[in-house]
Amino acid sequence: MLSRYRLLLVFALLLSLSSFLSAQVSEEAKRIQSHVLGVDSHNDTMQRVLIEGVDIGKRLPDGMVDLPRLREGGMHVPFFALWAPMYYHGAEAVRRTLDLRDAMQSVLDKYPDQIELATSGRDIERIVGQKKIAAVLTIEGGHQIDNDLRVLRMYRRMGILSMTLTHFRSNDWADSSTGKPEHNGLTDFGKQVVREMNSLGMIVDISHVSDKTFYDAIEVSTKPVIASHSSCFVNSDVPRNMKDDMFRALAKNGGVVGVNFSASFLNQKDAGELKQMIAKHNAIEPNLAGVELDQFAAKEYEEMGAAHAKTGAATVEDAAECIDHIVKVAGIDHVGIGSDFDGIQSVPLGLEDFSKMPALTDALLRRGYKEEDIKKIMGGNFLRVVKEVVGY
Ligand SMILES: [Zn+2]
Repeated sequence: MLSRYRLLLVFALLLSLSSFLSAQVSEEAKRIQSHVLGVDSHNDTMQRVLIEGVDIGKRLPDGMVDLPRLREGGMHVPFFALWAPMYYHGAEAVRRTLDLRDAMQSVLDKYPDQIELATSGRDIERIVGQKKIAAVLTIEGGHQIDNDLRVLRMYRRMGILSMTLTHFRSNDWADSSTGKPEHNGLTDFGKQVVREMNSLGMIVDISHVSDKTFYDAIEVSTKPVIASHSSCFVNSDVPRNMKDDMFRALAKNGGVVGVNFSASFLNQKDAGELKQMIAKHNAIEPNLAGVELDQFAAKEYEEMGAAHAKTGAATVEDAAECIDHIVKVAGIDHVGIGSDFDGIQSVPLGLEDFSKMPALTDALLRRGYKEEDIKKIMGGNFLRVVKEVVGY
């Protein structure tokens, strides 16, 4: 009985702490957040829709993303990542991508009055102007094209506007930041992929790639590139984070980095957990196909625990700190939001899901940011890149 009492006490304390934190959000922050475009350049919510069959039209009791919480946090332009783990090889990775695209379609078809697919800058402005969510589609992992530019072109025709060149492992044409270096960056075919993306109007996403792949991509690309969900290496030394020289190179290229909200990306104290998870994930090779492979992936996603993420040592202040750092190094025009929500194991205290976005704006206001700056961070910068690369 005593332990149950203690548990209740801890629960009550946590509740009062979270209401204390949300009570701290100023009216000014709430007002500004209700006027931003609200671009988030990476979430993994389609995993939940495909694997768990969740209905994101309703406010969910778990996870971090659904349409009500997107609206509540002023985030009207989520980039939904269609991600196939790297143990999906060849045609299996293409099949998985189609399954995820179908999961997205089920949401678009069920809630046409609330969410619409956006495939241009003008689409984004029109859809958000109609008080709807503008869904932008991306692919997370170059292996998903199965080394075939025709597949890439068909993805673009399916409304997919961006592709992350690698995931956790190096693929046949690009090295990953967390995989064995195999190609010293991009191979000739990898460079061809970047050029093809430039001509298709697809945004090259360098989150996950090795430092050398990053510099190769910047050199080859004639258009701005993005880092859809990366944070500051200076705050947490996970290999997925970016060093200051990379921020400067990205700024010169005209690109934008979306700050990842994973506690591990934002605070050194939480870094160990992510390093362990990546090592564990990279060692997986189930050698399955079809339904059996999908069942394996479902189990692995559930075990990762994104739907029930815990808070780490990081807080909403750490997210503001990384944004502030990028602004100082790269300038106000090169930073945005790339939450990685529904794909992370631990979240910052005070920034547990999209409904908490006003708390981040409040933290930026307290650091001296003006409304005009916050609007760039909360979407203006990414809209500029979409217009420039995908088109208006
Ligand atoms: Zn990722």
